[in-house]
Amino acid sequence: MPDAAAHLPFYYGSIARSEAEEHLKLAGMSDGLFLLRQCLRSLGGYVLSMVYNLQFYHYAIERQMNGTYAIAGGKAHCGPEELCEFYSKDADGLCCTLRKPCNRPSGVEPQPGVFDSMRDNMVREYVRQTWKLEGDALEQAIISQAPQVEKLIATTAHERMPWYHGSIARDEAERRLYSGAQPDGKFLLRERKENGTYALSLVYGKTVYHYRVDQDKSGKYSIPEGTKFDTLWQLVEYLKLKPDGLIFYLRETCPNPNMPASAAPVPPTHPSVTAHPRRHLGPLNADGYTPEPSRTCPGKSRLLPMDTSVYESPYSDPEELKDKKLFLKRDHLMIDEVELGAGNFGCVKKGVYKMRKKQIDVAIKVLKSNNEKTVKDEMMKEAQIMHQLDNPYIVRMIGVCEAESLMLVMEMASGGPLNKFLSSRKDEITMSNIVELMHQVSMGMKYLEEKNFVHRDLAARNVLLVNQHYAKISDFGLSKALGADDSYYKARTAGKWPLKWYAPECILYHKFSSKSDVWSYGVTMWEAFSYGQKPYKKMKGPEVISFIEQGKRMDCPTDCPAEMYTLMQQCWTYKWEEHTVENIIRSYYYSIATKTENGPETEDKSKATLP
Ligand code: AMP
Repeated sequence: MPDAAAHLPFYYGSIARSEAEEHLKLAGMSDGLFLLRQCLRSLGGYVLSMVYNLQFYHYAIERQMNGTYAIAGGKAHCGPEELCEFYSKDADGLCCTLRKPCNRPSGVEPQPGVFDSMRDNMVREYVRQTWKLEGDALEQAIISQAPQVEKLIATTAHERMPWYHGSIARDEAERRLYSGAQPDGKFLLRERKENGTYALSLVYGKTVYHYRVDQDKSGKYSIPEGTKFDTLWQLVEYLKLKPDGLIFYLRETCPNPNMPASAAPVPPTHPSVTAHPRRHLGPLNADGYTPEPSRTCPGKSRLLPMDTSVYESPYSDPEELKDKKLFLKRDHLMIDEVELGAGNFGCVKKGVYKMRKKQIDVAIKVLKSNNEKTVKDEMMKEAQIMHQLDNPYIVRMIGVCEAESLMLVMEMASGGPLNKFLSSRKDEITMSNIVELMHQVSMGMKYLEEKNFVHRDLAARNVLLVNQHYAKISDFGLSKALGADDSYYKARTAGKWPLKWYAPECILYHKFSSKSDVWSYGVTMWEAFSYGQKPYKKMKGPEVISFIEQGKRMDCPTDCPAEMYTLMQQCWTYKWEEHTVENIIRSYYYSIATKTENGPETEDKSKATLP
């Protein structure tokens, strides 16, 4: 899990007890002086170090299986911050209340722990191998789905590791370890026949040693007296670094002979990938999940963006790339009569595009046949912009087709516009689901900023959904590529502009920059967190301008988290860049992913609102 205490000024990360005491000494040893540090013995846990009567006290804070935090014998809290807040009012068994935080000296960041880098590496390897991703696609998948991937890893990852031998007896484990070379540290993990618990078998000095793996009441794994871990994989990874009570550390995998080499070391444990790589998406069902075969993952699972056919470009396959051209052949395009929507240019129809190796679902923007040349030119401009973009959180263009009319062929995002989706599903969609989607939008916008493009029409109506948990930015009709040395685009004349989404600089000076896109992102956030309501109610464009000029801003939508409203307000200062916004919403999204019992994807709104 991402570190739920990372944002706290009195959190020092992975420091030793003696170091904590040193900090408290330097800060004056007053009663109730406290700091928080990472627990080295239990994954995801913390230690509260404090002072009373010139003495040090250290309390372990455990992270329980349901995601809450508690000091042994104390009340459970949804996060370390809430826990500290509680103990600042009520000692409830501690030496005294928490009175004064011992904050980190300026310039000192929390110390990353061995668990942090291990966890990051695991997520990276898992994503790389499960979805066969590299480069930017890999980085984006890690950033956007880390909380979900960690959950997948936690439950099943060890089962397909080459060192995992399944349910075999002790003598069979010995037979496997003694076959071939027997270097010190050669190991395997097996399930014990007796009661479904696990054991580690390890070679040292040509002898095999067996260690029972215990599981405590909260489900954490450890070797007797050893460090506790949420997953068997983490346990093994840790024991590769540190013997932690074993006779020798784990060094060399004894590969399971029954596991195909291609599966190692991290094969797909995500069932949709195993069964249906890159399958086509159907319509959303009542759950917002596309219909799919039954899953093997325990608990309610769902499609991740990487499971869909539109996470990577269809041209990421080098074979398909050979055919990539701006203009598509008409006979490769089948156009359905079904209309997905209508825009300024004409209508958007459903279709299928035949590629070299596969057929893909597409949305086709069809220009009205009676349109004048300027409209045609505008559509070609939009196509030229989209042609240069390739990001999982942006609707990609497949190409342009000039036949009975000019057509812009795009990836399909069958869930429709975000505002409509949210207003029609108000009772089902949770706030954390909205945070997740808006984080994805911020990732798409950050990409645009990096490529030096301005969107100029970001609004909830132009965020399309692939499914309930996957959003893409669309409609590049007003977008511009900035010159290499320019930080903004200056429009010569005003056009038919979405004024309610525009920063004053756009309206007054016709200046468009990443900062004005951030302003629009703030309005889009407001729309999303108010479930698709129209911004600035019944006000007309000019009224909105004077409202903003008076320093007024829209109110916080009902039930919108305070952190998200603060971020909106910051977007409306015209000072912020998209990468800062992405960072902030990412931290918030990760922090709620650690607090919600089953993470943002399974939080049940109907249950959450029951008395
Ligand atoms: P636009 O002209 O870009 O504003 O699109 C008009 C409407 O067509 C949108 O609001 C969507 O409902 C639909 N639409 C546009 N692009 C797509 C797409 N790539 N996938 C699915 N529906 C789309």
